[in-house]
Amino acid sequence: MAVHDEICRAIDRFKDQAIGLGRQIHAHPELKFEERFAAGLLAGALGELGVEVERGVAGLETAFRAEAGKSGKSGKSDQPGPTVAILAEYDALPNGHSCGHNLICTAALAAFAGLAAIRDQLPGRVVILGTPAEEGGGGKIIMLEKGALEGVDVAMMAHPVDGEFATFPTLATRHLRLTFHGHASHAAAAPWAGASALAAVIQTFQSVDAARLHFRDGSRIHGIITDGGQAVNIIPEKAACEFLCRAHTTGYAREIADRVLRCAEAAAAATGTKLAHEVLGGYKNMINNLATAHRYARHCETLGVTAPDAPPDMPTGSTDMGDVSHALPAIHPIFRIADPGAGNCHEERFAKQTDTPRAYEAMIRVAKAMALTADDLLAEPALIESAKREFAARQET
Ligand SMILES: [Zn+2]
Repeated sequence: MAVHDEICRAIDRFKDQAIGLGRQIHAHPELKFEERFAAGLLAGALGELGVEVERGVAGLETAFRAEAGKSGKSGKSDQPGPTVAILAEYDALPNGHSCGHNLICTAALAAFAGLAAIRDQLPGRVVILGTPAEEGGGGKIIMLEKGALEGVDVAMMAHPVDGEFATFPTLATRHLRLTFHGHASHAAAAPWAGASALAAVIQTFQSVDAARLHFRDGSRIHGIITDGGQAVNIIPEKAACEFLCRAHTTGYAREIADRVLRCAEAAAAATGTKLAHEVLGGYKNMINNLATAHRYARHCETLGVTAPDAPPDMPTGSTDMGDVSHALPAIHPIFRIADPGAGNCHEERFAKQTDTPRAYEAMIRVAKAMALTADDLLAEPALIESAKREFAARQET
């Protein structure tokens, strides 16, 4: 198809710039909500494409938005047509770009560049959204709440790993902080006068471990002690821990978190301490829009790579793209940048894999597959309708 060739040629022309940006962002890893360098670079590159860039979207300093194509707002068309959004993540972890978000944002940018090159022919509108703080900050959830995805018909992004799949099952999360308040006393001279908050924390972990057997397959509960007491010779007056509860569905993650809370309440009763708890947030599980994912897979095939549906029980993590997928049709394919065993996401050695020629080649290929999928969604009413029908028929879990 001539238009598809044009999009791919535009992405090839943009390739060196995209790789250069990916390298710079990799060399300057920034934690959640602090991605000023990356957001600045990406917004600058978008400006050079001749589109207007909105910074500070949804009240988030490092979020941005730009669009190309037919826009209802600009008055170019009475009927603006559909809107597809490509989402860019660019936050890092304390050990660098060990999750490869430098490749996510450059793939999104290159895909947008390819579509912007044919903006006058686009039968709808493509939006690029810079979404901060995927790693624990839930930037997309804030952007959803503030309406940054309103008017978007389908959203997409792609994530690097050591495998290739058009769909990606992720786990819903619920993040709990539990704080116990006891009574301090001299640990040798008057332990009977104290109530140990640390004992309550330890008891909570033991009760959670006893409960694990009864949770459904694929559930995960992992916790850390964030405050274990004040001094070794004082019965701890205060102690705290955090648990991340994960499950295949948002509802079940909540159920598990409720059970953890009951374990903590029992521990407080047993130790004579008081419990305070906070829900620090959580991500929803990913609902993969198959109509869109399968079109993406078809383009991957043409580009020389097979991207099947992921097995539902594959080892996985969690993402705030899950929340997007509960609000509108969305895909989050994963793409291979290294051989299996070369390191998992979040491991320091994976950070080396996210800055290789192989990784950047894969990023460009994925940019093309996303751009072609986006163009199909805009150009084929039947495709976008089937994506929406599938979304409407989804099971909220
Ligand atoms: Zn990631």
